[in-house]
Amino acid sequence: MSIRLYTPATGLPDLEVKIAYGIARIGLEAFGEKKGEIFSIEDLGGHYEIEFFVDESEFDTLEKTINLVLKKVFSSFHVQRMTPGVTSKSQNNVTVYAGEEYSLNIYQKAFHRWANKSGENICKHAGSPIRNIIALSSATSYHNSRDFIDLQSYKTSKASYLQRSTDRKNICKTCGMLSLLGIWFATFVMNFGENKEVMIIPVPEGKIMSSDLRRIFSIQHLVRRDRISGKAPERVLPLLFFSRLPSSANVLEKFNLLITVLERAGGQGYRVDGFYTVPTSNYIEFINSSPFNIAIVDTMIRRMSAENVTLTSLLHLNSAVHYKNKKSASLFARQYVLETSSEGKVNLLYPETAKYFLRRVFMVKEEILNSTAVKSFAKTLGYFVWNKNYQNYSFADGIRNARTEKEMSEILQRLMREAKLRYDQESKEEQKGEGMQAERPHIPSAKDLEELNRLMKDSFEEVKAALYLLAFSYESHKKIYVGEDTNA
Ligand SMILES: [Zn+2]
Repeated sequence: MSIRLYTPATGLPDLEVKIAYGIARIGLEAFGEKKGEIFSIEDLGGHYEIEFFVDESEFDTLEKTINLVLKKVFSSFHVQRMTPGVTSKSQNNVTVYAGEEYSLNIYQKAFHRWANKSGENICKHAGSPIRNIIALSSATSYHNSRDFIDLQSYKTSKASYLQRSTDRKNICKTCGMLSLLGIWFATFVMNFGENKEVMIIPVPEGKIMSSDLRRIFSIQHLVRRDRISGKAPERVLPLLFFSRLPSSANVLEKFNLLITVLERAGGQGYRVDGFYTVPTSNYIEFINSSPFNIAIVDTMIRRMSAENVTLTSLLHLNSAVHYKNKKSASLFARQYVLETSSEGKVNLLYPETAKYFLRRVFMVKEEILNSTAVKSFAKTLGYFVWNKNYQNYSFADGIRNARTEKEMSEILQRLMREAKLRYDQESKEEQKGEGMQAERPHIPSAKDLEELNRLMKDSFEEVKAALYLLAFSYESHKKIYVGEDTNA
């Protein structure tokens, strides 16, 4: 015994899911007191089935509730004004007026006819039409000409040309209002730069339950109207978004994110600047595995806002996290140190973050991560990263690019020679008592070298990655104890 309702299969993925959330919200208002799960939402391949676990006779309760809720939420312009993609002109279309009656009856039938007849609403409901607005479905309005989406070609006797489609794409007002309700309760809205807004819509993967959606309802206000620097590349929005959510956000693992960037061009209407879908699990894994990972993102956000620059390290981090791309993880480490250091201080990665990438992207064994030999060489390598006076990335870069053990051992020999030279020089400076306290590099022992060579026989790439990432982290900066310190 249950009530099943279906979204109208308009072919517009964002509109469908918003209508489903609107209907779900009505159900929560109607049956929220009941114990246990109230409904499920299932993706039927482009449209959704919402099943309420109540007796069919309770349909009347839903009918009463939809009218109460829509009147309560949308009889003034407040919500409309707060919703990206609703202009002062279009807000009249999505407002509930006295005397209007709404019904969920139209969602009782699953549609099997996909194509539209000309002139009918794209939801195929007969109700009074409103013109679809960009807030309800951005998919209809994408007109970034570079992508040739939603363009039609026209021919005149003189020329042929491409133009934005002028299909009116009307929907019925019930679909419009439920979609707006879905936005208000279950999407994340953030400001982006000076004149853009981001709408992040969680799209269910498979089946979700009412408790999942309740958890979304309870966290979605946390980021409402947060501002993201306009210098952030659009691609990194999911990473910045997750870095601002609490750990309870792992409910989003059951969803993909549909991200829409809307731009208010010259204070007038809206245009769609970005429209794409991302899976969430890799982002959630990164954010949840260590608070230091969030701190790293925060550091970059602060630097980006303070200096109003775009950081390429953010792009590398995004593809290291999202695609688990090894090259990006290495480039991120290097670029992060370059872009977040200041005149006086070299900023390094937290060891926890370096180890996250070593474990999850490079699949490095614990034996290598815990090896004294690896740590020892990473310290020496790191000296030429964090010591301002002798900064020289060529050793680290050489290790990253080494393709054979022979190449590797040549670089390690050069590194050892240079380190010994600096060690002697710093020791002399200290004896003269000149300047700052001397900082001598750590010198690996003969045993370390032997052990490193043994590890490289089986795990060449893993050892390379470990040396490189640890060198760019504070692991390489830990207090260096030298056995025979004659100046002590
Ligand atoms: Zn409709």
